[in-house]
Order: sequence, then structure tokens, then C-alpha cells
Amino acid sequence: MPTRQQIIDRERHKLLDEQKRIGGELERLRESLKVEVDVDAEEGDPDLIEREKNVALVSQLEGKQARVQMALRSIAKGKYGICERCNKEIPTERLEVRPDTTLCVQCQVEVEKLIKRGLMPRTPQEIQ
Ligand SMILES: [Zn+2]
Repeated sequence: MPTRQQIIDRERHKLLDEQKRIGGELERLRESLKVEVDVDAEEGDPDLIEREKNVALVSQLEGKQARVQMALRSIAKGKYGICERCNKEIPTERLEVRPDTTLCVQCQVEVEKLIKRGLMPRTPQEIQ
């Protein structure tokens, strides 16, 4: 069995890879968004649809990037794998599935309930 530290180290590498991948993808998408769309383009124009898709993708990736960076920062501070809500250790099995998570399963479920009831704004932490 690997130690918790070894697992965190492995997650750090995964996160760094992920960060690189997202960075490259964002660069590519932003580049494609620089291309001017014909001002006469009408609704339903394939170029416009493509563009809207890319705009949505960029914001999705930016959210993901923010979470990955947050996770990397907490590793640097030695706080990685600690639930930010209840301060308990997040089980390593969960970290392996979702290396960018900042909540334990129980808090995740509670936060999800609060969001559903409209008692909490949707945070960068994506609920899955
Ligand atoms: Zn928790």
C-alpha cells in the first residue's frame, strides 16, 4: 500500500499534467476565438455555432483550471486532501478519482443539497 504522502505526490503529478493539458487547450481555443466572425453571419451559421461552443468550452476549462490550481496550491501549503468544510482528511480513494476535490463525500452531498435549495451559490467546486 502506498502511503498517503505517496498518493498525494502522485496526484500532484496528475494535476500538473492536467494543468498543462488545460493550458494548451485554452490557448488553442482562445486563438480560434480571435478569428473574426463575419458580421453578416446569421443565427444558425455554423461559424457562429462553433464559436459559441468554444466560448462555453473556454469558461468550462477556466473553471477546471482554477480548481486544479487551487489543488496545487493546497498541496504546496500541505493542506491538500483536507476537507475545506469539516477539516477531516479526504480518503485517498476519493482523491484518486477526483484529484481536484476540496470536499469530503459527506460535505459534497450536503453542499449539493444546499445548492439545490438555493441556499448556497454554486462555487468553483463542481458537483458531480
Ligand atoms: Zn467534509
